Amino acid sequence: MAPKKGELTEEEKELVQVISKGNVQDAAQLLGSKEVRVNCLDEHGMTPLMHSAYKGKEDMCKLLLQHGADVNCNEHEHGYTALMFACLSGNKDIVWMMLEAGADTDAVNSVGRTAAQMAAFVGQHDCVTVINNFFPREKLDYYTKPQGLSKEPKLPVKLAGPLHKIITTTNLHPVKIIFLIQENPLLLDQEALKKCSTVLDLICEKCMKQKDMNEVLAMKMHYISCILQKCTTFLHEGEDKLDPLIKSLLKGRDSDCFPVFQEKFIRESIRKFPFCEATLLQQLVRSIAPVEIGSDPTAFSVLTQAITGQVGFVTAEFCTTCGEKGADKRCSVCKLVMYCDQNCQKLHWFTHKKVCKTLKDKREKTRAGSCQREEKAGKVVGERGERHRVNLGR
Ligand SMILES: [Zn+2]
Ligand SMILES: [Zn+2]
Repeated sequence: MAPKKGELTEEEKELVQVISKGNVQDAAQLLGSKEVRVNCLDEHGMTPLMHSAYKGKEDMCKLLLQHGADVNCNEHEHGYTALMFACLSGNKDIVWMMLEAGADTDAVNSVGRTAAQMAAFVGQHDCVTVINNFFPREKLDYYTKPQGLSKEPKLPVKLAGPLHKIITTTNLHPVKIIFLIQENPLLLDQEALKKCSTVLDLICEKCMKQKDMNEVLAMKMHYISCILQKCTTFLHEGEDKLDPLIKSLLKGRDSDCFPVFQEKFIRESIRKFPFCEATLLQQLVRSIAPVEIGSDPTAFSVLTQAITGQVGFVTAEFCTTCGEKGADKRCSVCKLVMYCDQNCQKLHWFTHKKVCKTLKDKREKTRAGSCQREEKAGKVVGERGERHRVNLGR
């Protein structure tokens, strides 16, 4: 029989308290008792798992799931699920854990909001990103089994792992995606990439045609598929290098070092989305089309915002080469561009060296000016493209 709201045994009451304190050992002991039901409900309809998720207690959540906690219990008085509580706590690892445990992302609370919408509402954008980019491995593994009359699966088993890593990335920078491809020798092969790209196209189609359509995921799959296709054209026989492609993507134009090819490539990939009636596609095109190449917002920032739900990252620094968050290595000369590491800096130098000195001079001139002037000039210092690659959210 399903537990009734507010009918907690003494041990269950104790469990709720232990959860608040975060004592995993005590919780484990209590969960071993016959008097404790893992899905018991307090007077508000909250389960122990909801309590742990809300309090941001990761180990506790894990323990409760191991003991069979129901991740989709929906008895809460306002219809909140454990996933929603995880979003409110802002702990993205717990959000991920709930998703892996099978949390329903479409469930809505009593005012019709999904977990992702609630997270966005309270400003937990990292949690929105996690939800929007979650794609269970089983859904990909489906393609590693032969379907219908075909004897061959669409995706060789050995490619499922590396491909899954790529499709769950939250950094959509084309250079980052190429890094992920380079990471695995199995993917540095024309045939392998073609298979992966075909599977992504199939997933894209499925996302658009299923009952609860997912345009965001469809767009992401399509976009990654475009990058994989581009890579196949660079992987000629006997040549397994994607570095020339990375260079084309990073090469800045002479006037301001803005990476024109990258911008055009992303714009074109978006436009090639095969479902022209999709609302998301129309939104993206409307945001990008009027923007002159080299101005803000870039196609990359518009796409990132649409897919990850991230808006206005003011505090984080992004790698100029691969768009990775949290880059903390600065160009030692101009001090205006950031990188993850030496590798990213090296890859960018062939094009950055053309403007580095100019950037440095500008920065020093700015410094020499009065305080007030410095403040004003600080906003425009640096070449447009350079600055923008760093603060992609602006
Ligand atoms: Zn980087
Ligand atoms: Zn520099």
